[in-house]
Amino acid sequence: MKPQMRSLLGDIPTLTPSSYANLKRCDRLYWQKHLLRLPASDSQFSPDRGLLVHAMLKMIHDQGVCSDLDLVHDVLAAHGADDEITFEMVQRHARRCPRIWERCGHEVDLSRFQPLPPAVFFAHARIDAIWVHDGILDARDYKTGAVQFNYVGDDPAARVQAFVLAKHLDRVGTTRLRVRYEHLAPEVDEDPEPFEPDAQDLAAITEELKDAVKRMWASEGEFTGVNEPAVCGSCAYRSICRDSATPSEPIWASLSFGP
Ligand SMILES: [Zn+2]
Repeated sequence: MKPQMRSLLGDIPTLTPSSYANLKRCDRLYWQKHLLRLPASDSQFSPDRGLLVHAMLKMIHDQGVCSDLDLVHDVLAAHGADDEITFEMVQRHARRCPRIWERCGHEVDLSRFQPLPPAVFFAHARIDAIWVHDGILDARDYKTGAVQFNYVGDDPAARVQAFVLAKHLDRVGTTRLRVRYEHLAPEVDEDPEPFEPDAQDLAAITEELKDAVKRMWASEGEFTGVNEPAVCGSCAYRSICRDSATPSEPIWASLSFGP
């Protein structure tokens, strides 16, 4: 492996839900975003709404229950978030929220180490909400954008979440895991089918992630881009990518500083 590439990958790579999803999409996207940590050259996407809704949901649940409308109004107003869309998104969550649970946590950081060579890696995930109820560890991922998968189990990001969560099933005394996406944007009619992996599914995910790590090592650190217009056309790094099929002018390179 080339020395400069190996130093970026590190001796123990880390996979997160988003980094693995990007790796599955394009090796070079993974390299630019997660190893080089470059700013996106072509993204006009603002994460502000999503971050705000996530923060409000955590605060509401830290202080009470989301079915308490007075509490919801108070929390949103206290943070200048009492606009119609944010309120509607919180209400869409409230309709999906378990009413009875044994344990819960919000914005929970979880990690899992896969120590067996030749595919040693860490997996790390921040889970928006975890509810333990009815013998299920029920992990929720709040989504404020469009539906991208009809079945959560098809999303590589959810597979990393399941891998990390599986390590913690014993601690909560259950063997049942569910990963569910809550689509909170008013224009989304239906959530995708939740992912409820069994032991066989979880073993398959472990092998899948090990294979991905082994493939990164075996690729000699090249991280070659897919060079397909359908993939590159919506890539936030397409204008600074050697292998882009649809290069353009980087947005951040066209900033004007006046005459
Ligand atoms: Zn709730």
